[in-house]
Amino acid sequence: MKTRAAVCYEPNTPLKVEEVELDEPKVNEVLIRITATGVCHTDLHFMKGEAPVGMPVVVGHEGAGIVEKVGPGVTTVQVGDHVVMMVSFSCGQCRFCAEGQPTMCTVGFSVMATATLPFCMEKRLHVGDQYMHHLFGLATFAEYAVVHERSCVKIREDAPLDVVCLLGCGLSTGMGASINVAGVKPGESIVIWGVGGVGLAAVMGARLAGAGKIIAVDKNPKKLALASKVGADCKVNASKGDPVSKVMELTGGGADYSIESAGKAETIQQAFSSIRSGGKCIVVGMAPIGSMVNIPSYEFLLGKTITGTIQGGIRHQLDIPRYVDMYMDGKIPLDKVISNRYHSLNEANEAFRALEAGEVIRSIIELR
Ligand SMILES: [Zn+2]
Ligand SMILES: [Zn+2]
Repeated sequence: MKTRAAVCYEPNTPLKVEEVELDEPKVNEVLIRITATGVCHTDLHFMKGEAPVGMPVVVGHEGAGIVEKVGPGVTTVQVGDHVVMMVSFSCGQCRFCAEGQPTMCTVGFSVMATATLPFCMEKRLHVGDQYMHHLFGLATFAEYAVVHERSCVKIREDAPLDVVCLLGCGLSTGMGASINVAGVKPGESIVIWGVGGVGLAAVMGARLAGAGKIIAVDKNPKKLALASKVGADCKVNASKGDPVSKVMELTGGGADYSIESAGKAETIQQAFSSIRSGGKCIVVGMAPIGSMVNIPSYEFLLGKTITGTIQGGIRHQLDIPRYVDMYMDGKIPLDKVISNRYHSLNEANEAFRALEAGEVIRSIIELR
């Protein structure tokens, strides 16, 4: 079939929105009509050549839509199901999947690295005989996508797809970082470095977990104001003075946890410095590949931990429907992170420009 898609042919060139061919879903694959896709900073790393990916590539990885067709052997979704597509793929069988860490799946890493469909490593998108990569095995900047059935999670039909699409990456990453990876307990303190979409979701997750003091750090006053609205108790403007000292003051010697969601080596260092002895720092943001982090080695003698996570360590099939339910019950204001809406793939380049310029928190491209 024919569909329109936003294609990156070369790093640092504008996306070309054009008509492409999409082949039929094969074994265990489904055809999804995408109704909304989030615009996530991670795509920019690939589009700017800061992270390697095969070209040409159809970008986008925060999609939601409706299943239109299923290939042979599909058992987990049916035609008409509403689904959110997952940035991390889990095979369900490797050691990580078996031990309840599906975002660490070994097959998932190969999907990420090759930008092809899982297992077969094939591509279904092409113009003539030039095939295109599917970013994260998804390629959601398109009207239709063919993905593996395990790349999507079925959700309730009354949930607005143009909000919950963000659970495909950014929002589940932030929520999961606070709840699953940090494991915040009632009364504990947490500092979140960088409150874009992911960081704001980390604030919401920490609040849900009962954190005692939630501190948001950012240079952007608009983002800090929004952090207060979704549950942050204190704001630190990182462009005024030393933010680490401010966090130390506010927490009386360091937070129990810190989450880095700015995706910069410098903020990873600050996030590690801002936890107390025995505290835990969780790196969520994607810094450019090859960038290095400097950490004073003596700080490890203080029993401090630093770790990373993919998509907040969520269990896709378990956590996504729960997050959707909590949003629908008014317990997590997921829609508050959406500051812009676009109504056509033609606006893809503008959406990324505005994101990079810091003009938006999170934007959605709606496709009908
Ligand atoms: Zn696996
Ligand atoms: Zn993302």
